[in-house]
Amino acid sequence: MGNKRKIKERREEKSLANREAYTRMNFLYQASQTVLMENPVNLELSRFYAFTMKSIGQKLLCKMDPSIKRTICKYCHSILVPGLTSTIRVKAKRERHLVVTCLDCGTLKRFNTCKNYQLWSEQQQAEMKQQPEGQYSGQEQKTQQNKNPGLKHRS
Ligand SMILES: [Zn+2]
Repeated sequence: MGNKRKIKERREEKSLANREAYTRMNFLYQASQTVLMENPVNLELSRFYAFTMKSIGQKLLCKMDPSIKRTICKYCHSILVPGLTSTIRVKAKRERHLVVTCLDCGTLKRFNTCKNYQLWSEQQQAEMKQQPEGQYSGQEQKTQQNKNPGLKHRS
């Protein structure tokens, strides 16, 4: 019993630490976007916020959602707003793909637009759903069911 309690306490500590980091990252991302949208002259400040957010994530191993990660330039850390700091083009060469170009440093990002293409993170979630229910703890099961009401019917 003592061991289980310790493990639970450790988990709660870890999730609390991560929650704080995620809150901070969320704030920095929003600040970065707001500052840029208010006045494009603030690009340097916006970059600083985005860079700070990225470094927090790297230090505490907090992964960014792909939808957020795709809006930050890998090289200069500026927020990629179409028409303001980036251009978006659809290219038909090879497989059809999307090219996002950072207007400040010229770095390209290429994204697959294939119909059945799945991100790695989405694939991992699919695998998690297929695991037998006995492997989750009680709390995790509840949150899973809340997020996916249809999960119970499938299995
Ligand atoms: Zn850039």
